[in-house]
Amino acid sequence: MNPNENRRSFVLKVIAGAGVMAAAAQAGAEEEKVTEADPYAKSMGFKLDTKNVDAARYPRHDAATQQCSKCQLYSGKPGDAWGPCSFYGGRFVSPNGWCRNFKALKA
Ligand code: SF4
Repeated sequence: MNPNENRRSFVLKVIAGAGVMAAAAQAGAEEEKVTEADPYAKSMGFKLDTKNVDAARYPRHDAATQQCSKCQLYSGKPGDAWGPCSFYGGRFVSPNGWCRNFKALKA
């Protein structure tokens, strides 16, 4: 193989590798989100939107004051679409979500 072919092959491999890494990073980010279908989250009554919490099952839940963005275990920044929840090992939840482990921020 001549030097030009080696260089071209190397460049193509680098480009292909970068594409694979970007796709893997995107897939990883998706996997880190807590979903309502997650068996453990489901057992905790987790909802992506606090307005959809089962009021009959969780009578003390209050959609007006209880949501992930107002929970001690949420560490997303204001305006973030998703933020880490320490209760779920740092996996991401919606700031509008809720689960029965909600702990109100201290005033
Ligand atoms: S522990 Fe708090 S931040 Fe985490 S999912 Fe439950 S309500 Fe949301």
